[in-house]
Amino acid sequence: MAPASSIVDTVCMREWHPLSWRGQTVAQDIEYPDAEILEHATGELAKMPALVAESEIEELRTAMTEVALGKSFVVQGGDCAEAFKDIQLEIVTKKRSLLAEQAKIVQDGFKVPVVQLGRIAGQYSKPRSVMKETLPDGTVVDAFRGDNINAEPGNSAVRAPDPERLVVGHYLAAATMSMLRVAKTAAPPADSHGAPEVEGKTNIFTSHEALHLPLEGALTKGHYDTSAHMVWVGERTRDLNGAHVEFVRGLRNPIGIKIGPTADAAKLIQLLSIVDTEKQPGRVTLITRMGANMVSYALPPLIKAVHKAGYRPVWVTDPCHGNTFATPNKIKTRLVETMIAEIKATHLAHRNCDSHLGGLHLEQTGEDVTECVDWHSEGGEYSFPNYRSICDPRLSRQQALRVVKEYVEFANG
Ligand code: PEP
Ligand code: MN
Repeated sequence: MAPASSIVDTVCMREWHPLSWRGQTVAQDIEYPDAEILEHATGELAKMPALVAESEIEELRTAMTEVALGKSFVVQGGDCAEAFKDIQLEIVTKKRSLLAEQAKIVQDGFKVPVVQLGRIAGQYSKPRSVMKETLPDGTVVDAFRGDNINAEPGNSAVRAPDPERLVVGHYLAAATMSMLRVAKTAAPPADSHGAPEVEGKTNIFTSHEALHLPLEGALTKGHYDTSAHMVWVGERTRDLNGAHVEFVRGLRNPIGIKIGPTADAAKLIQLLSIVDTEKQPGRVTLITRMGANMVSYALPPLIKAVHKAGYRPVWVTDPCHGNTFATPNKIKTRLVETMIAEIKATHLAHRNCDSHLGGLHLEQTGEDVTECVDWHSEGGEYSFPNYRSICDPRLSRQQALRVVKEYVEFANG
């Protein structure tokens, strides 16, 4: 294998275009049985209207620079995987209002403007650690990869990936966008000066994991990925020389990168030297998801190395993905108290390293679901009367508000 520094040079010298990722290895790739049908679907997508305007992407860039400089804060939240069947006015409005309420709590507590960033209007593709799944009737099928790819869990139909779902997903993302743009909420404006909300303009920005590159490539015009204001690269797809890093490095959109507990400081600096060549504050959001027990050990070396190398990313904590566990009945859940512990430990790690936590990244919904549990139960007995998630467990509205309130009180205390 070539030494890492020469990998960086090789990547940086490559000519970028919206499909240049095709020359690289695609981690978590979907194997479509018929390439022509996929080609047809992406051709349809390329002709469709943008979900977000280039001017809004630029607006978010500016807003994220402010977060990186410590002048504002970001709350990023939404489903692990949005379900097509949940693209309904009431459900979307509740998600939107929740984010607005959380932003208000932070804004009142920290006295800074808050950027509201949904995991919404396109969070339809999922990476997987295990690519097969056993259904309750014992049948082994391909894992569920998100509603944009194949059928949802519980459906015993064969999980063949169907490219037409990408087109359906785009219509549904557009419908969601439309609901967000007209939703009347008590949302505070993104700037602190009280500018009234302009009709047709939303003060919520959208984001999703840029996992499905044929879709993202088809929706990218010039250097703007018009599928969302921000896109991120996941923990499983951030290989320096891989297709996902190749795709995002040329975008004007602010980009996120998930960072797990095994991340290595030197590799992270190489990654930043590929995606943030100008060392622009807020160009990259590092979304750390270490697990509550790992943060104080794994995070400080990364913060120190990144700052020493002259980068000023937005540091966001995702207290969800490092703290998932299965109950004895094999229900995937998370403890809210553990999630809060990760946020607090992350806050302290930054403070001890002359850095600052810039935001929270939460899997949540506005509904009263029972997917995450509030406290540890000695016997491991938990009940889940309203478990609706099609992927990871989400915080309910009450839990999501609790997390934000407890964090703000802690940080101010
Ligand atoms: C996610 O955000 O749902 C996810 C899969 O995260 P990660 O890449 O951090 O595991
Ligand atoms: Mn998830």
